[in-house]
Amino acid sequence: MMYNNLDDLPQEYDEELNQLETQISELFELLEKSEIQISLLKDENFELKAQIQKLQQQSKPVQFKTPPVETIKVPKEDVVTVSPSDTNIRQNKRKCPNCGATGFSIKEVDDKTRIITYVPRRIYMKKKVCTKCRFEF
Ligand SMILES: [Zn+2]
Repeated sequence: MMYNNLDDLPQEYDEELNQLETQISELFELLEKSEIQISLLKDENFELKAQIQKLQQQSKPVQFKTPPVETIKVPKEDVVTVSPSDTNIRQNKRKCPNCGATGFSIKEVDDKTRIITYVPRRIYMKKKVCTKCRFEF
C-alpha cells in the first residue's frame, strides 16, 4: 500500500528523507577528504622511509672508518725498530779508504762545489773528511 506512490508519503517522511540525503552527501565528502589525507600520509610515509634508508647508509661508513686506524699503528712500530739498525749501517760506512780510520775520525761536511738544489735553500752534496790524514771522499 505505502510503496505504490511516493507522493502519498506524509510530509514528515519527506523532510526526513531530505535530511538523510544531505547527511549521505556530507558523509561522502568526508570520505573523499579522508581518502585524500590517506594518500598524502602514504606519500609522507614513503619519503620518511627513504630518508631513513639514506641516514642508515650514511651512518655505515662512519663505523667502518675506525678499524683501519688501528691497523696503521702496527707498521709504525716496525719502522721504529728498523731505524736504529739503519743508523748503525751508516756509522759502519764511516771508514777512511786512505788510512783506515773509522768512527769519530771521519767528519761529514758540505761539498760547496757540488750544489744539489737552490730551492727552497742551497743544499750541497755531502762529503766525508778524515781528520787524521785530511783525505776527502
Ligand atoms: Zn784517513
